[in-house]
Amino acid sequence: MSAPTTIALVVAGGRGTRLGPGLPKQYLPLGGRAVLRHGIETFLAHPAVDGVQVVIHADDRACYDAAVAGLDLPAPLTGGATRQASVLAGLEGLAAANPARVLIHDAARPFVDHGTIGRTLAALDGNTGAIAALPLADSLKRGRDGRISAGLDRTGLWRAQTPQAFRYGDILAAHRAAAGADHTDDAAVAAAAGLAVALVDGNEDNFKITSADDFTRAERLLAQRLGDVRVGTGFDVHRFVDGDHVMLCGVRVPHDAALAGHSDADVGLHAITDALLGAIGAGDIGGHFPPGDPRWRGAPSDLFLRHAGQAVAARGGMVAHVDVTLICERPKIGPHRDAMVRRIGEILTLAPDRVSVKATTTERLGYLGRGEGIGAQAVATVRLPP
Ligand code: MG
Repeated sequence: MSAPTTIALVVAGGRGTRLGPGLPKQYLPLGGRAVLRHGIETFLAHPAVDGVQVVIHADDRACYDAAVAGLDLPAPLTGGATRQASVLAGLEGLAAANPARVLIHDAARPFVDHGTIGRTLAALDGNTGAIAALPLADSLKRGRDGRISAGLDRTGLWRAQTPQAFRYGDILAAHRAAAGADHTDDAAVAAAAGLAVALVDGNEDNFKITSADDFTRAERLLAQRLGDVRVGTGFDVHRFVDGDHVMLCGVRVPHDAALAGHSDADVGLHAITDALLGAIGAGDIGGHFPPGDPRWRGAPSDLFLRHAGQAVAARGGMVAHVDVTLICERPKIGPHRDAMVRRIGEILTLAPDRVSVKATTTERLGYLGRGEGIGAQAVATVRLPP
């Protein structure tokens, strides 16, 4: 980053795992990309944003690196125990870059849009702060024991979203002064420091994923935006040669033979790769990775599959599902099936219920039945913007 003037500070330090065991919600796969990657890509693509700095929890480095692979980002900063402490750590970490303006954004709001970013920055021109927000439409009630104890006047009330924009020096000073307090957002930190903060129109789609319902809403919204549903098929066969293992769907399976091929000869991943490329009309695996090219000699095939997944993402689309059938008499696939589903999900950033691995034989008929090799056929469903 050379002399950046506007930095988006994306706060991803939260430990919220209530959507399920394992990954914090900002790292869950949403349409083939981690939740936080959606927002990061939107900021990176905004013409007024010069760079993105992410603040993460120290334990999350590995999933962060996987989530943002290939993006032009500086190393992440490590946050603190609360959101406020993480923002302060992020602001302190920007000291060397010394940006003119910062846009502070929650990683769990994947649908931030260019209009909201632009309005927030524009409002900062005449104010010491500006946040995206929405006026309250619902009536407000105070409840006690399941009954209304009072009605509240909603006049002038707004729901605060992010991004929240400030001049860097102002908000850094405000956060330093507020260290140890417990403000729920940066507008509150700014207000405590006496900064005037403007409200600009946010976007209903720019909601924060907190609950399982929110996550379902996010998936539904994404699917709505990607109404051009495509199906592609793939088929591949590799023959047996001497060896002691085969690679199938990204998993090393011990066997009394190996599969011949220029790469690691993973028929399962090759078939899925072709199905994805087919779904977006992007040719076949041989066209993208010519068998004669020395770069792909012995190459692990997850590289090909990841490439196909990225080709879908580059079209603004998502992989909705992949289903592969491995065809062979031996080795037995069953014991390895769960590992294969997990591996394909990792490569494509797909939830396990969007991946299927099946196996069958040909009842000893034909070349596969005689054990001359292994075949695979795959189907992939892809959703693209119309
Ligand atoms: Mg092949």
